[in-house]
Amino acid sequence: MNFLVILGPPGSGKGTLSRQLQDVHQFTPISTGEVIRQKMADPLSEVGKAFAPFMDRGDYIPDSLALDLFQDIITDFDPDARVALDGFPRTVPQAEIFADWIKQENHHLVGCVFLDVAVEIAIERMNARLVCPNCRSTFPRIAGHPAGAACLSCGGELMPREDDDPVRMRQRMLRHDQVTAPLRDWFQQRNQLLALNAGQTTTALREEIENTFNL
Ligand SMILES: [Zn+2]
Repeated sequence: MNFLVILGPPGSGKGTLSRQLQDVHQFTPISTGEVIRQKMADPLSEVGKAFAPFMDRGDYIPDSLALDLFQDIITDFDPDARVALDGFPRTVPQAEIFADWIKQENHHLVGCVFLDVAVEIAIERMNARLVCPNCRSTFPRIAGHPAGAACLSCGGELMPREDDDPVRMRQRMLRHDQVTAPLRDWFQQRNQLLALNAGQTTTALREEIENTFNL
């Protein structure tokens, strides 16, 4: 498998970029945060129960659980699959375990893209987004989807994402920056980091990624 790691705070446009990388380059997007939210919404999920205490405190999950979750998600993937990872690896220890595993299993790490975005821009973007609590689809608030409107996928009632209020957003962005700075350094030292200004169009971002990693 070929893995592209996408790093960026909430509101940096990771989701939109991932969708374009999927459409153009067949990278299957995996957001471990979304997977965890789905599992936590399922009262029968053992994994969901294991994660709940960390997520409730707003903490990141421990390194050992992160690798388990990741391996669980990719179990059924095709050996030639291209995968865009959002949320894993999150720390240097996770990246080291991940790199060892990639080597051992003969997979390939394409590189790491870091989407850099100013706090105010990210908050503006997040406020413009609604999520369906049932199927986790997201919709732009502006395009005729006010809060309370029906989800186009399943009919659920759209609402702002639970962690999108500005105070928590600022905290999460600061935390994201602190937690991921050593990880960015780690990729940088291996010549695998591409830092991009997230204010560009998604197409411009995608083209820079193509050129840098020869997709
Ligand atoms: Zn839905």
